[in-house]
Amino acid sequence: MNLDTHRTTQTRKVVVFSTKKETPSTPQQRRAFCPSCGKLAVFTAAGEQRWPARVAAAAGMPEVVQLWLCSHCHSTISEPNLTF
Ligand SMILES: [Zn+2]
Repeated sequence: MNLDTHRTTQTRKVVVFSTKKETPSTPQQRRAFCPSCGKLAVFTAAGEQRWPARVAAAAGMPEVVQLWLCSHCHSTISEPNLTF
């Protein structure tokens, strides 16, 4: 019995991608009139505010409210209070 085993060895290159999701390259920014200081300011996304579905429905607002930080007076304004 003569078994000629021919093996092809494949060299696989493992490419490691660095997945950094914590620091986005371009932060979300928008221009709007600030209801707090009344100036046209640049608003930077400052995270989101989440409400339980029941609370949101009772108050007539979305469950997830985007928060924006005013570059002028540093107030945190929730999205429904901003007019872009
Ligand atoms: Zn402001």
